[in-house]
Formats: sequence, structure tokens, C-alpha cells
Amino acid sequence: MKKPELLAPAGDLHRAKTAIRYGADAVYLGGQCFSLRSRASNFTMEDIREACAFAKEYGAHIHVTVNIIPHDEDFEGIEEYLQKLEEYGVTAIICASPAIMRIARRTAPKLQIHCSTQMSVTNSDAIQFLKNSLDIDRAVLARECTMAQVREITKHSPVETEAFIHGGMCVNYSGRCTLSNRMTLRDANRGGCAQSCRWSYALYDHDKEISSDPLFTMGSKDLCAAAYLYDLMEAGVSSLKIEGRMKTEYYVASIVSSYRHFIDEIYETGAPLSPERMAVHRREIQRGENRETCTGFYSGKADVHSLIYHANSNSDVNHDFLGTVKKVQDGSCLIETRNVFAVNEMLEFMTPGKENRRFKLSAMKNAKTQEQIEAIRSPMSLVEIPIDFEVQENDILRRYR
Ligand code: SF4
Repeated sequence: MKKPELLAPAGDLHRAKTAIRYGADAVYLGGQCFSLRSRASNFTMEDIREACAFAKEYGAHIHVTVNIIPHDEDFEGIEEYLQKLEEYGVTAIICASPAIMRIARRTAPKLQIHCSTQMSVTNSDAIQFLKNSLDIDRAVLARECTMAQVREITKHSPVETEAFIHGGMCVNYSGRCTLSNRMTLRDANRGGCAQSCRWSYALYDHDKEISSDPLFTMGSKDLCAAAYLYDLMEAGVSSLKIEGRMKTEYYVASIVSSYRHFIDEIYETGAPLSPERMAVHRREIQRGENRETCTGFYSGKADVHSLIYHANSNSDVNHDFLGTVKKVQDGSCLIETRNVFAVNEMLEFMTPGKENRRFKLSAMKNAKTQEQIEAIRSPMSLVEIPIDFEVQENDILRRYR
């Protein structure tokens, strides 16, 4: 079994660093042009340069999404952009357009070309064609493939394959959807998806409302491929990808950290994990979730159980993320807060590469006034808490459950 790359999303520089610190082998991000999710991206060229330098320190890689479906007027500046990415040390670009791939091969030959899931690759012949005609280095498989198909495609593929293991799914063929275009004039394939499938709808027969149920959505549940992780690794998939460039720092840290431990354990044992160990890893993954999940198409047909019919069903705001360590002092640390917590609660620190460290909060001080306080209720406050073990700057503090 070869060890696959764990590929994580990042919506800004801070989250890219968080993903790498918590164990991602590579991070994918979008610049401010030529990328889907362009509304979510805060990466300036300078940020991309810094992300590459940071990744290099950790032996990690940066992939940049250049995955718009461009129309003729969308190419201005693309050569210079790709050359800059190459110069900064970006490892790969993720593309959905043969035109962009051709330009990249010509103008920035050191960049690897990864064919995006938007190209809906569902067979190895398609990969062979893309290899022959565009010299791609990797194919990101369509999320609509079953596990058996992923195995077969990977076996016959002339290049590396990459598969999604976690995160949001499109209810249409990944990204190949014009719901958003029609309803909001925002082009989903040029970075503007308004997530129209997730809005709340009423059901009409002509002009007669026929549903007395609460409003419903057409969105898909998120993917969680924990049950297929061993199979994906055993099948030789080179990269396991987490979706979610719009997600929070806490989501990135907890999901990356969970899969990091999960993949490492499978790799070390070289065998499927016991139900008990699977339960431990699944529980950790769920801590970072706030939407219902399913196994997508891996188990075969994605049926009614993979959809979220009722608006926000089981969708919950996650209040576990309590803050990040801003400074470590002798016997205490400074926390920038995110959610409410109080003295005497059981909390835990997530330190990259280590077991979580749990403790009972014995006291807390307002960092500004130096007064002892019983609870903190406002986000982005600074508090000092006593600790008698090692933590590092940027470690995440969360509720123990
Ligand atoms: S509207 Fe929904 S299905 Fe369509 S591209 Fe956006 S997220 Fe995907």
C-alpha cells in the first residue's frame, strides 16, 4: 500500500497554514482570478507566495485551482498568472478547461496539471485521452464514481488519481450546473455559485402549492468516506481530498487532524481497522461537522438518503471551537476566544501531531483588566488561562465531549 497525500482546502492564508500544521500533505487554494469559489478566496499573489514558502518548511505542497470554465473574454492575463504560480513554487494547478491546460503546458511547464472533478472523469479511457492530448499529471475523479469504479480506473490509469473523501457535494454533476446562473445570474462555473440547490423551496403544481410540509431543499448531504478509506488506499489512489474552501479554521483543523490520524493508522497496520478504532476516528471526524453526511456514490447509487430534503435538517452551528492560543507564557497561555466557556468546564487542546490534551479549566483572567472571571461570553476576547502542560501558539482550544 502506498501512502496517499492528504489534500486539504483553504479559503485564506491562515487556514492554509492551519491545514499544514494539522497534517495536510498539500493544500489547494484559489487566487482572486480564474478560480471557482472566487468569492470565497482571499488569496492575493503575495499570500500564494507566502503559502508556498510556509508549505516548503513542512515539506508540503500548494495546489492552485484554475478551474473556471472560461469563455473567450476570460483569458486575459492568464499566461502571466500561471508563470507567477510557477515562480512562487506552486506544485500543481487544478484545471477544468483544456484551453487553460494547453496554455499552462506552454507557458509554465514546471506546474503539474491536475484535471479537476469538473471534467467528470468516470473512466480510464478519458484519462488516457487527457494524458495523450494535454499531458496531465493527475486526474481528480468525478464524485459520481462508485468505489469499484475508482478501483478499476486507478488500476488502469496512466497517471495518478485523486478522490474526494470528505465535504460538500453538488446535487448535480460536480459543478456542472446552471441553477445558480439561472436564479441569480451568478455563474457557478466561473466562480459564482450561489448554492441555489441549498435554498428552501415550496412545491407547486402549476400555481397551486401542494406541500404543507416545511420548506425543503434540494441539496446533497456532505460526503464522509470514512468507511471507504482503507479501500481507497488499498486501490492505490494517490491523493485523498477534503472539500471546503468556504469552511472555518476549526473545520479545517479538526477534519484534517482526524483524517491525518486515520490515514496514518491504516498505513501502519496495512489492514482495515477494527470496528472500535473506526468508531474512534468517525467520532473525531463528526466533531468537525455541522451537516449530515453520507457515503455519496461510493456505495453505489446515491439515493434519497443522500439528500437533505428539509431545510437545515440536523444542521447545527458548532459551538465546540472555543479559541486559539495567541501566546504561551510561563504556566499560562493567552487565548483569543470564539465561543462561550466557563471555569470548571472540561476543555481540550488540539496540538498538531499529538493526542488531544484534556483538562478542567480551573481559573480564567481577562487579559486586558487582569481581573479573574468566571466565564467569557464574547468572541474575539483575550483571556489568560493556567496550564501545566505544553501547548503551542495557534493550537486550538475546544470543548471536551
Ligand atoms: S447550485 Fe448546488 S448543485 Fe449547482 S453548482 Fe452550486 S452547489 Fe453545485
